[in-house]
Amino acid sequence: ATPTALLVGTGRGAQLGVLVKGPEMLESTRRVDTVVLDKTGTVTTGKMTLAGVKTVDGVPPDLALQLAGALESASEHPIAVAVTDAARRRFGDVGQVREFRAVAGYGVLGRVDGHRVVVGRPELLQKMSVRVPSALFKVKQQAERAGNTAVLLAWDGFAHAVLVVADTVKPTSAPAVFQLRRLGLTPVLLTGDNEAVAQSIGQEAGITEVIAGVSPEQKVEVIADLKAQGRVVAMIGDGVNDAAALATADLGLAIGTGTDAAIEAADLTLVRGDLMAAVDAIRLSRRTLATIK
Ligand code: ADP
Ligand code: MG
Repeated sequence: ATPTALLVGTGRGAQLGVLVKGPEMLESTRRVDTVVLDKTGTVTTGKMTLAGVKTVDGVPPDLALQLAGALESASEHPIAVAVTDAARRRFGDVGQVREFRAVAGYGVLGRVDGHRVVVGRPELLQKMSVRVPSALFKVKQQAERAGNTAVLLAWDGFAHAVLVVADTVKPTSAPAVFQLRRLGLTPVLLTGDNEAVAQSIGQEAGITEVIAGVSPEQKVEVIADLKAQGRVVAMIGDGVNDAAALATADLGLAIGTGTDAAIEAADLTLVRGDLMAAVDAIRLSRRTLATIK
């Protein structure tokens, strides 16, 4: 391929709101047959809101929200922002967190008011030897069947509440997925969130192949496995938890409104942050290469 033709494509890309790191990568775009999409912040807006705090054993929901709000104030995750915003609205302010630690793709932990607080997936609570009453699992499942994300909240070795957060599919996601299919590409939804939520969001966006409950490391493995099957894989993501997978994919596309880590790891940045730009980028690269041949 002649570098000049490719550079013309790159300039047109900028007009379309697609930033290309190096012109050479446009070539891999042409052969892509599978597009793996992160859920939160990529297919969905990632602007989550707290839809409910469900407690067991008569624990006041306000106490749960206070502890969770303080802990999550140290995290930038969309779930954390939703929880902290709700706590600020309710109490005017959130408390202090000490010894804060984030486990990417799993949740957060720290010390609030002398309590050891954990928020996140059951696997994280298990690792911290937290006991989870079966009633809470039922509450969690109910929320997830409705398409919401639900995380467990524990303090002092016991899970006391489920935090229910709601996200919305970007209005452009379903039309973009439709266009990707028309280009002959197979969309796959990949998420650290739970299977029920992933299926529900997948259905809304028109994605039938869904891989849920994966850690950031497993996202890398999923991409590597697809490549090993002979598929040429594009990955679209926005989070710190997507960076390694973006780098592993044949073509990494970052959502421009996402994290710096994702943008740095990707070959291409979708400035507008919606998936129609991914369709434009793939179309453009095919057209650009067609004129070279
Ligand atoms: P996605 O792949 O959809 O972008 P992540 O990998 O960021 O999701 O997170 C996966 C799961 O880990 C979340 O659905 C949630 O259960 C849990 N999690 C991660 N970070 C947090 C946090 N700050 N607070 C609560 N839960 C979290
Ligand atoms: Mg994400």
